[in-house]
Amino acid sequence: MYHQVGEFRPMPNHRSTYCHVNRFRAQMAWLQRLGCKVLRMDEVLAALRGEKPIPPRAVALTFDDGYENFYQYAYPVLARHGFPAMVYLISARIGQPAQWFAADGRATPPLMSAERIRELQQAGIDFGSHGAHHIKLAEVDLDTARQDIVDSRRQLQDLLGDEVRHFCYPYGSHNAAVVDLVRQAGFASGVSCQRGAATADFDALALPRKAISYGDNLLGFLWKLLMKDEPKGEAVVLKPIRAG
Ligand SMILES: [Zn+2]
Repeated sequence: MYHQVGEFRPMPNHRSTYCHVNRFRAQMAWLQRLGCKVLRMDEVLAALRGEKPIPPRAVALTFDDGYENFYQYAYPVLARHGFPAMVYLISARIGQPAQWFAADGRATPPLMSAERIRELQQAGIDFGSHGAHHIKLAEVDLDTARQDIVDSRRQLQDLLGDEVRHFCYPYGSHNAAVVDLVRQAGFASGVSCQRGAATADFDALALPRKAISYGDNLLGFLWKLLMKDEPKGEAVVLKPIRAG
């Protein structure tokens, strides 16, 4: 799980949502060197469902929020390696500043425009939904949550001209009711901020991830990559992909 990639000076807070581009380059080079198989989210689902074997060292790369710096810094590195990636977009905030940064006094980085997104779509980047308005879905009433989830799918499908199958909970905020809403809206996968490796023991609509943080040197990155650590944080295992 990545958020912003760019040339950042050390920051006191939100470190897990920044990655310096120099480290990002080194991390992607190591994925290549280690023979990691970088999968699209469609392939992740097929593998977890047992429809095809899970390749050794399978990895998926996800980018939350859809920042312009994905295009500027992350995409060229991914393209050089031929790695697929999933970018989760906030459908009602396309081309706007990430205005929620203002709440804690941070400058608001720009989010990608529709034109930019279509350009990347042509280049093979995958897009999923991060909700319509980037709200904590488990902290609003169910009607508001449902509307946000359904609107985001419709708006992104209009933008992309394609089915949008993958969802990412803003702030990782989810619970059983929200997971069901995402399922009912027609999404096939959902990712949270729960820490860990995704396996078939999880619900496909509540998969954990590993946040690569600003503070992760190469050793930290490789540790997160290779360790099958126990999931940390609130575990929401609802309907395991592989039952029994
Ligand atoms: Zn977000």
